[in-house]
Amino acid sequence: MVGRAGTHSWVDLVSGLDAAATRAWAEAFLTAAERQAAALGELDREAGDGDFGTNLTTAVRRARAGLEGEVPTGPGGPFTVLSKAFMATGGTSGPLYGMWFRELGKAAGDDDELAVAQLGVAVRCGLDAVCRLGGAAPGDKTMIDAIAPAADALETAVAEGRSVGEALSAAARAARAGTEATAELIARRGRATWVGEVARGVVDPGAATVAVFFETAPSDRI
Ligand code: ADP
Ligand code: MG
Repeated sequence: MVGRAGTHSWVDLVSGLDAAATRAWAEAFLTAAERQAAALGELDREAGDGDFGTNLTTAVRRARAGLEGEVPTGPGGPFTVLSKAFMATGGTSGPLYGMWFRELGKAAGDDDELAVAQLGVAVRCGLDAVCRLGGAAPGDKTMIDAIAPAADALETAVAEGRSVGEALSAAARAARAGTEATAELIARRGRATWVGEVARGVVDPGAATVAVFFETAPSDRI
């Protein structure tokens, strides 16, 4: 018998995300990001320069248009669309998300499914790219504080042989916890450094957007 007694279902047998699943993920993320853009922008107004919500909305609209014209080419396609949309958007966050999504887009190569292990490697490589490009480190109150714990969670899930659904849920919990923890930090990177102590108590919007991304993963369906 495969799986745990009583809890086994076909769900346990799915090893990765196909192109339809990653597309559904990208679309769910865009819907949630658009819905939360004003609130996220408010965080940047309190602890930064206030442009985050506008930047995010611009990227979301560009990504939607890109997805509409996207011919399915594999599980990485939708993430590559996100990458290009964010890359072309202003603010510090745009190009950094662009670099990060680029790694997710490349992760599956020519495979029909994006495996958890590939996703874990991509999230880690994307994190390294963001650190290199932006010069920030964990604890600087940036998106890194959500991406790094998500990368750790995915690697742990792979080591423990978890299903894709379990791995994505763990990544979402880790990214959210990392985001909540940014409230206690003072920014050392980006324009949020201008406000110093005023930012204490305010969650970093860049990290929160990463949490939203993992929370919209299709973890309940696989
Ligand atoms: P800006 O800081 O230029 O106004 P945005 O408002 O578009 O850029 O994005 C702000 C978000 O970008 C922050 O919430 C933070 O998560 C992220 N960020 C800013 N600077 C960096 C950096 N050097 N490295 C990683 N993330 C950063
Ligand atoms: Mg800003």
